[in-house]
Amino acid sequence: MIYHQLALNVPLYSLLTYAHPTALPAGTRVAVRFRKRLMAAVVWESNVQPEIDISKILPIETVFSDGWQLPAGWRALLSFTARYYHYPLGQAVMAALPKGLRQPAAVPLPRQEMMYTLSTSGRLQPPPPARFHKQHAVWQCLQSAPVTLQQLKTKHTQAAHYLNQWQQQGWIETKPVPACGSIPASQHHLNQQQQHASTSIQAKYNQFAPFLLFGITGSGKTEVYFDIMAKVLQQDKQVLFLLPEINLTPQLMQRVRQRFPHTVTAVLHSQTAAGQRTSNYLQAALGQAALVIGTRLAVFTPMHNLGLIVVDEEHDYSFKQESELRYQARDLAVWRARQTSCPIVLGSATPSLESWYKTQQGDYQLLQLSERAHASAQLPQIHLLDIRRLPLDNGFSDIIKQKLQANFIHGGLSMVYLNRRGFAPALFCAACGHTFGCPNCSAKMVLHQHAGQLRCHHCDFHQRIPYCCPECGNQDLNAVGQGTQRIEETLQHLLPDARILRVDRDSTTHRQDWAEIYSKIMQRQVDVLVGTQMLAKGHDFPHLNLVVVLNADNSLYSADFRAPERLFAELMQVSGRAGRADCSGEVWVQTRQPEHKVYQALAAQNYVTFATAELAERQEMGMPPFSYMAAIRADAKTMREAQELLRQALQGIGQQQPLPASVSAFGPVPMLMARLAGYERAQVFLESKNRRDLHHSISIWQSWLQHLEKIYPQTRWLIDVDPLEM
Ligand code: ADP
Ligand code: ZN
Repeated sequence: MIYHQLALNVPLYSLLTYAHPTALPAGTRVAVRFRKRLMAAVVWESNVQPEIDISKILPIETVFSDGWQLPAGWRALLSFTARYYHYPLGQAVMAALPKGLRQPAAVPLPRQEMMYTLSTSGRLQPPPPARFHKQHAVWQCLQSAPVTLQQLKTKHTQAAHYLNQWQQQGWIETKPVPACGSIPASQHHLNQQQQHASTSIQAKYNQFAPFLLFGITGSGKTEVYFDIMAKVLQQDKQVLFLLPEINLTPQLMQRVRQRFPHTVTAVLHSQTAAGQRTSNYLQAALGQAALVIGTRLAVFTPMHNLGLIVVDEEHDYSFKQESELRYQARDLAVWRARQTSCPIVLGSATPSLESWYKTQQGDYQLLQLSERAHASAQLPQIHLLDIRRLPLDNGFSDIIKQKLQANFIHGGLSMVYLNRRGFAPALFCAACGHTFGCPNCSAKMVLHQHAGQLRCHHCDFHQRIPYCCPECGNQDLNAVGQGTQRIEETLQHLLPDARILRVDRDSTTHRQDWAEIYSKIMQRQVDVLVGTQMLAKGHDFPHLNLVVVLNADNSLYSADFRAPERLFAELMQVSGRAGRADCSGEVWVQTRQPEHKVYQALAAQNYVTFATAELAERQEMGMPPFSYMAAIRADAKTMREAQELLRQALQGIGQQQPLPASVSAFGPVPMLMARLAGYERAQVFLESKNRRDLHHSISIWQSWLQHLEKIYPQTRWLIDVDPLEM
């Protein structure tokens, strides 16, 4: 018997040993019994010396050779991921596989599409008589160039039949459809900065080279990506293109199809149907697809011959997974590029401070696009409007109302941005001051007037709008603050003739909704857009010329040290929607703190000033990127229980296994959002300037928690490395 170490979906930090009569190559999928249940597993190592009693080792039940194994590079990526995020390897491996490959069943490989042409002996044959004109046309087609069956069928619906006949005669030559195909030239000539960016990256083919493409909104970053992608694809290498879910718009896909019409493209995101996802995944692994476009999970796509990675909107928080395996896809992408020896381009108009800092340290090469690409597009003018002494009508000052009215009269497109969906963020009793909180979360319930509900935006809880206060019985309940629905309503009164369209998670539940919204806007059937983040990201509405930000001040009071960075990026993104093509744009931001650094930098549209000041502050506080952090979290039904587990671990470690001197531990403290979906959440922060020390400390914590969890079975714990949530 040969013993194998297998990765399977169980919460154990070590791999499991199973036996098989022959040695199986690493990366082979198999099925095994674990506690009587049949489960899928991946061979990690063969020919191992078992550390347990041989008589207890079970055999591997089935081997799915599938004609293919998970490649070594992929396994290295997963080993690193599990180690870095302190997560059970078997569970990490399964999380990185599409559903089809997580089942203990064989999976058919996607069919390789073929191209056909006449063989040498075929060319010596007389063509079918011209009176059979369709058959004749098929032959002609085969004679001129290699074609796909699909193309032949356009000549004759029976093409498959004839092709088959001729194939049997030996008259046909076949070859696989190339993954890349021909790439037409771009419609645009790259401008000087774009060209410089592209050539700098091209100079680093076949080696690890990280770039930060820092380009203002509309500066043509996408064109730069496409230019390098084309070059890499033409060398028969594959490209991995990662972007935030919300940016994977029909608009972007249309641009991709236009630029790479003959390139086999695999799209991988959370809404790709399971079967399709498995097949796309395999296409990438087998090299049938040359281009992989996807959201964070696509970072785990095995690739045959990777030549370039692009991470668009690299600062976006959606690259971080906030459940189970808490990985940061952008960081893993950089690791992967290093391991594969290929260049990686991180692009953003407002880079993450982590990436920006790396350019300052010389770790990443900075490439800059400082002007809008479209010849007539101009940066918008950004105005801060101090509303401290202005009367507001449902959130609107008079100046903003006049701006919106004037723009409507002149036929412009306006956008009112607000990061809060629903009608109003809270309901409040005018008599006793009672507010309606979610029973499961530390959050107020949001009023959804049309649906007649109060809803929690953090868990599933909802209830009918109460008609009186549960505390005092008073019936006078007031909606406080504004949500997108209320703003929409206010705008309908203000501009009764305008066509107003609200875009948020409530109005667009389906992917198709977007296509419809987009075409409405492009056909100029909308005068005013009201919306949340959804509107702000990745969309290009050429005639949008007025953007109004109603109230973003709330984020300024957050205790999260990343709040200013996040707000700045968000507002730059929103402002960037204005003046994209041939109209100049204006942005108006209502605020009670116009002097705040975030707003000042926004008005000056100066990322560099902002980043420099913010980094100086982080350095002073010893915060990332000047230190490395991990959060050890615990949740339980009560805060006391949650904190108790952490306190016990803290104490035990302090007494018996002191952490390295460079590591400091802080806590336990409640999370900023202490209660979520019925659980109280506490955490301890570990922080160090030395990454190795930090990881060593996390391992110590991990073994203590594993030991203590038996004493506190009601408390769950988890480790979040490089946490974004506080
Ligand atoms: P970003 O990704 O930086 O926001 P895009 O690549 O979407 O910018 O480009 C913004 C607009 O400018 C698009 O409409 C694009 O077609 C156009 N554009 C990009 N590069 C050029 C160029 N070199 N010449 C003319 N137009 C360009
Ligand atoms: Zn809730």
